[in-house]
Amino acid sequence: MTETIENSPLTTEIEPTALAVEPILTATFFDLGLIPEICERVEKIGYKHPTPIQREAIPIVLEGHDLIGIAQTGTGKTAAFMLPLLDSLICSPVERGSAQAKHRDRPRVLVLTPTRELAVQVHEATFSFAQGTGLKAVVVYGGVSQRTQERDLSKGCDVLVATPGRLNDLVQQRVISLAAVEFLVLDEADRMLDMGFLPQIKRITAQMNHDRQTLMFSATLDHQIEELARRLMNDPTMIMVGGRRKPAEGVTQMVYSVMRLKKPELLLKLLKEMERGPTLIFTRTKHDADRVTHVLSHAGINVNKLHSDLTQSDRTKALANFKSGKFDTLVATDVASRGLDIDDISHVINYEPPMSPDDYVHRVGRTARAEKTGVAITLVGPEEEPLMREIERRIGTEIERTIVEGFAPPPVIEISASERRRLKGWR
Ligand code: AMP
Repeated sequence: MTETIENSPLTTEIEPTALAVEPILTATFFDLGLIPEICERVEKIGYKHPTPIQREAIPIVLEGHDLIGIAQTGTGKTAAFMLPLLDSLICSPVERGSAQAKHRDRPRVLVLTPTRELAVQVHEATFSFAQGTGLKAVVVYGGVSQRTQERDLSKGCDVLVATPGRLNDLVQQRVISLAAVEFLVLDEADRMLDMGFLPQIKRITAQMNHDRQTLMFSATLDHQIEELARRLMNDPTMIMVGGRRKPAEGVTQMVYSVMRLKKPELLLKLLKEMERGPTLIFTRTKHDADRVTHVLSHAGINVNKLHSDLTQSDRTKALANFKSGKFDTLVATDVASRGLDIDDISHVINYEPPMSPDDYVHRVGRTARAEKTGVAITLVGPEEEPLMREIERRIGTEIERTIVEGFAPPPVIEISASERRRLKGWR
């Protein structure tokens, strides 16, 4: 069966999306490790310098890592995944006489997209990148006759771009085999989940070899995307790019570097010693919200909690008590705090950096509202440093690290990429 979404008429004119970010003028595609054929092709197309996501993603994909890219359309993400994948196909061609060589219609790269419009756009870009390489790209989507698509496939297919519904139809009818897929890309994964494609994605990935490289792109990062990544990916590297949003001018931002196990103790110390008004503490999980509330309350802090496991009446009560000043401290998760309308919060404390820079701006925006001033504190363990640095990069502010005596994190030992490979047993 084909999804209704795929049955709406296809837009024949595809507006090329404008590049919404500045390319990095100090870098070239050659610097990123791409082979000369690909660099020359890219130059012919007119890309002079890579965009931020291309600069970050291309080396990671070439190294064979799974990747989660948090990026919107317009950032150059199609080239960010397709150029290194074409590079990989060219550098490890199918052996002559092998089973794969006899099945030229079995794709080695599969790109799943939520809509046919995006599928067509990705296919067009791939076609253009692959010119002169001998590699073939085919696109399949629902709502149109299968015949032409079957004919295209029979002529050979290295890269298949597909919407999940039509792909499942074709797999079921044994028109397509996914047995040879080495590289899977989920483009606009958040939209695919919103559109209810998860069961289709599961059916598709069940047909594929586990020993593959998986790349996932999404405009947002939430627990659904994290869950999908856990299910489909192997130790993925995450990168985030996008528009810059900043916290308000009146917010003083602070970062405390702290040993993870000492976070509750440091939090308590700060709450007791700081001169503060109503304070909102964010945790990533409900479990952490429960634990933090318990520890603080046990130590005599006037604290309440707000998360989605509580009944509506408990949530309303917690909020009313915080607003009236009965409790001066509230521990909340992101979900529960959405849309909270509380003025006069003097301090926002992130128990750990949030998963996305947008969430950081959103959380920190709870203080210093309406031209007032406020303080935003983030507690950062050593393993959370990369996430915090990405947040700082996105908001365009470097925040000095404060270390409190007795709470210092252990020193981090930097390991080079080649050393890491050696430790993993690679040559
Ligand atoms: P995308 O985010 O992949 O939809 O790309 C957005 C638009 O930017 C497309 O029209 C691309 O052709 C264009 N584009 C992608 N990368 C570059 C680059 N490095 N330099 C100039 N234009 C680019």
